[in-house]
Amino acid sequence: MKRNVEISFRESVDLMFNRAAALTDLSPGLEEKIRVCNATYTVRFGVRLRGHIHTFTGYRAVHSEHMEPVKGGIRYSMSVNQDEVEALSALMTYKCALVEAPFGGAKGGLCIDPRQWEEHELEQITRRFAFELIKRDLIHPSQNVPAPDMGTGEREMAWIADQYARMHTTDINARACVTGKPINAGGIQGRVEATGRGVQYALREFFRHPEDIARAGLTGTLDGKKVIVQGLGNVGYHAAKFLSEEDGAIVTGIVEHDGGLHSETGLNIEAVRNWIATHGGITGYPDAVYLPDGAILLEDECDILIPAAVEGVINLSNAERIRAPLIIEAANGPVTAGADEILRNKGTVIIPDLYANAGGVTVSYFEWVKNLSHIRFGRMQRRQEESRHDLLLTELERLSKDKNLGWTLSPDFKERYLRGADELELVRSGLDDTMRTAYQSMREVWHGRQDVDDLRTAAFLVAIWRVAASYRAKGL
Ligand code: NAD
Repeated sequence: MKRNVEISFRESVDLMFNRAAALTDLSPGLEEKIRVCNATYTVRFGVRLRGHIHTFTGYRAVHSEHMEPVKGGIRYSMSVNQDEVEALSALMTYKCALVEAPFGGAKGGLCIDPRQWEEHELEQITRRFAFELIKRDLIHPSQNVPAPDMGTGEREMAWIADQYARMHTTDINARACVTGKPINAGGIQGRVEATGRGVQYALREFFRHPEDIARAGLTGTLDGKKVIVQGLGNVGYHAAKFLSEEDGAIVTGIVEHDGGLHSETGLNIEAVRNWIATHGGITGYPDAVYLPDGAILLEDECDILIPAAVEGVINLSNAERIRAPLIIEAANGPVTAGADEILRNKGTVIIPDLYANAGGVTVSYFEWVKNLSHIRFGRMQRRQEESRHDLLLTELERLSKDKNLGWTLSPDFKERYLRGADELELVRSGLDDTMRTAYQSMREVWHGRQDVDDLRTAAFLVAIWRVAASYRAKGL
């Protein structure tokens, strides 16, 4: 059935859920319990700024408490609304289940354009918003743990953590009330890059399976693949940077809020990012063709399309013209339900958001565990690991000398082998393992069932089974 009217973001997520739920044997009661958003809190608060009282509207939606705390980012954008936070909170439930992060789903948002305010004003607004949520336990280490999302980052998370600590002076676990904090405020190595790194690991895993590559009509490896990225913010920048610098992908297009950049030979991600930082957008960037209507680039020929900005950008108006055979949803909800149907019918392979951008929540999970255990990962083992490796190498060298074998270990090998893993390496290893394992659980369903022909339905099925199992264990 072809849809010709676009439905809302939340309805879109529900529809995708329903398509998968129809393939399960869940009772209609349990199915509904899993689908609905448990509660959404709306708050309007005033802050005196620039001589006037300004009223802001914020939300915190809790989709599912089958596991607690619930987890989900806080977004700062003028387009934040109840429908959006509820859709995003639902995606968080399924995402956490898929990557086995032991959380329920939540999401928050503040209706604000962060670019309109000075840093000290943003701090006042953030602290006031946090105060409103903290006093209702909607930010709490064991109940509700936010993280960064669009328009927020380490700075906002540090303010929130500090606000919580001020209001809970005796809580030894206060730092675990929010993730995505700077290192010196209880953060973890590798969190800033985590979502983009996860997109890279997801693509690497996809390209390990020839059958899957063939489903997208592609061949070979990531090396030389043409990539178009929408949104060069936290997620898009890191994904594009890692794919081009480490995997040989060629980023031929970048779509930003003020237009698009195109270069057949590949764009320098670091240079574009620096240009945006100094000029506020991509306009005027010298080493590429500039297109005022950037969204047109989404329809350009490429191997991999990475929407990493906002929801709904691939929709009924352009889905038919999308030429990329492989789309990886780095953003949440970039493909509407209507567009999803059109693309599925065309044979486009979509690596869905609930898997593709789960790197962020995965490393947030590690940060939360680090905060609760009050010790940096690797601190106890690193030197012990190094001395055991040293023991082995010394013995090998002794044997070689005693038996006149003439073996010499290259200095580079010795250095790399001797080094014990630090926190960043452990985080990357945990993230890589999570992304590989989750992909394999999805693809098993994708290839194993006749009635599943896309990765999104497979991902939803895995998530629904796991959430249902939690509810059943609770006696529901
Ligand atoms: P961000 O604010 O750092 O960056 C967003 C970028 O997109 C900005 O550069 C902005 O200028 C650009 N942009 C906004 N609207 C655009 C449009 N219409 N066309 C083109 N570009 C546009 O945000 P982010 O943290 O990178 O988040 C991006 C997406 O990834 C969101 O959907 C978010 O929910 C999702 N996500 C983020 C994280 C995370 O850890 N930050 C985790 C999971 C999912």
